[in-house]
Amino acid sequence: MDILLWLLLPVAAATGWWSGHRQTRRQGGEKKGHPEGGYIKGLNFLLNEQPDKALDLFIDLLEVDDETIDTHLLLGGLFRKRGEVERAIRIHQNLIARPYLRGQDRATAMLELGKDYMHAGLLDRAEGLYKEILETGYYKIEAGRQLQRIYEQEKDWKAAIEYSSLVDAKGDSGRAAVRAHYWCELAEKALAQGRDRAAYAHAKQALATDPNSVRASLLLGDLAVHNGNLKEAEKNYLRILRQDEKFLPEALPKLDGIYRQTGQWRTYKKILGKMRDENNKIELLIHYARSMVESGAAEEAREFLLRALEDHKDSLYLLRDYLRLEQSKIAPGANKTPDIVLQMIDSYLTRSPTFCCENCGFGSKNLYWQCPGCHQWGMVKPARDHSFKRSK
Ligand SMILES: [Zn+2]
Repeated sequence: MDILLWLLLPVAAATGWWSGHRQTRRQGGEKKGHPEGGYIKGLNFLLNEQPDKALDLFIDLLEVDDETIDTHLLLGGLFRKRGEVERAIRIHQNLIARPYLRGQDRATAMLELGKDYMHAGLLDRAEGLYKEILETGYYKIEAGRQLQRIYEQEKDWKAAIEYSSLVDAKGDSGRAAVRAHYWCELAEKALAQGRDRAAYAHAKQALATDPNSVRASLLLGDLAVHNGNLKEAEKNYLRILRQDEKFLPEALPKLDGIYRQTGQWRTYKKILGKMRDENNKIELLIHYARSMVESGAAEEAREFLLRALEDHKDSLYLLRDYLRLEQSKIAPGANKTPDIVLQMIDSYLTRSPTFCCENCGFGSKNLYWQCPGCHQWGMVKPARDHSFKRSK
């Protein structure tokens, strides 16, 4: 506070003197008001250790005109950054109240006031102001983006989609991906209310907005399972494998479930085998080995996992599946070592996060489509690389 006051002193003094001087000239020598008097009064507040009163007086001393707008904007922004939002609001409201402030200058002051309101959590006031800014024709992108942020916080997904579509550049896939999440939010809300047809339409819209939306594919697959349409569900879950291979741990158990119900184990094994040739992901190797066990080839599965461990020596997930098969070969009570090691691995993996944000590192046991840490959409993904290396 004190440093700012000392910085303000010469500013307030110079501006007060200058505006007084200009008024004197404008009014043919008759001087109106005595800014220097206010300056001395403010100085007295300071000397009497009343910095708040001094500061308020100096703010009043600063006259608004074309030459001092930037000073006001600078001061307002400075107060907001220091957390003194009420003062920032006063300065910006004071600017906007000037009838001669027009065009871009007025829109700039409104934009700054909107930031003050957002900072203070006054979302309804910010919402009205940003809509007014849109009408001025200035700062369309900034105002639209802030409105999108407000509606996102209020979970008004339709309005968030509307303003996002208004300001997003065509072909910006990152922005489209966020909008697809809004559609998915609408789909999940409809699903929770038992409106399956609306949920399906919103999820379809999400996929049309972002063809790489894993969330939309999962939703459409789950809806199809719910409706007993396993062929449709399979199509949607298989799409996830092409969209983002990091989501294999989400898609594969669902495909397992479908092939288990339809008895198409050979088809599943063929798909996994084809994918395994293109991709050496741990989750895929585990599911391939499990499909071998399911089809009665446990020994081949054990040998397959042993070879896979040579390529992924630090994967606890692979080691766990291998030890389970190894354990099944041992007569009960003959050797307790695999049991103890398995318990240790299980305990470690149970404590480790199952999902991790690629942006901020937030880890959790649940899949959040919007990261609770950094609020980015689609950054939390399955984490399957727990290893001895990471645990050190
Ligand atoms: Zn994050």
